[in-house]
Order: sequence, then structure tokens, then C-alpha cells
Amino acid sequence: MCIGSAVAPSHLSTSRHCHHYDDGRRTPTYKRKRRNELDKDEKCKHRIQKFRLAWTSQPEFKTWLRPDLDNPNKAHCIKCNISFTAELTVIKNHAKGKKHKKIASASSVCSQNIIKKFTAPQSHEDT
Ligand SMILES: [Zn+2]
Repeated sequence: MCIGSAVAPSHLSTSRHCHHYDDGRRTPTYKRKRRNELDKDEKCKHRIQKFRLAWTSQPEFKTWLRPDLDNPNKAHCIKCNISFTAELTVIKNHAKGKKHKKIASASSVCSQNIIKKFTAPQSHEDT
């Protein structure tokens, strides 16, 4: 560890006090501080998107998209093994990601059995 930085004082802090002499006339120019208390607790209008199971049935997502079991507001990519915000834009962005594409193209099999557990049960037709 060698800190060899020669810090030269660029400016001396000279505190000059300019004394204005009142020539008999005092001007009361004090500022009034108004307390504007506008701290109404406005809740964030950003709606938190919950994960939709319908997304997992979309062909572009169904091979890797999964709900995050720990957080209903998050989605999980079983390929990359990461979670992210459960928003369509985020999911789509993740799908476009280089890392995800690389992993997804490498292993596009053997994930369909897993996803079946999370998709909504289809109505069986037994006649
Ligand atoms: Zn991924």
C-alpha cells in the first residue's frame, strides 16, 4: 500500500466577512421559512406485477419460465437459475439475453417435465 499522492492545496479557505455598515437604515430582510408540509404518503403507483401462470404456457417462455416459489412477484428462469421481476418486459428482456440464449440453446430438452408441474392442470377429456 503506497499512497503517494501529493495533494497541493489549491485554494486557501479565506473566510472574508464583508461587513456592511448600516447607515441608520436597517432593512429587515429576514426570510420567512414557510413550512410546507406536503408529505402526504402517496403510495407508489407502480403496480407490483404478480407472476402469471399463463406466461409459462407461452411457447417462448414455457421451456424455462417458472414462478419463483419464494416470491410471488418474481419469476424464475430454470435455465439460468436466476429470479427476476415478474413483468413481461423483464421476462422478454431476459429471453433476449445472451446468457439465457446460450444456456437455452444448449439444453432445450428435459425441462418440459419440470414445467408440467407448474402449468395449470388441463381439463382432461375422458369420454
Ligand atoms: Zn434464463
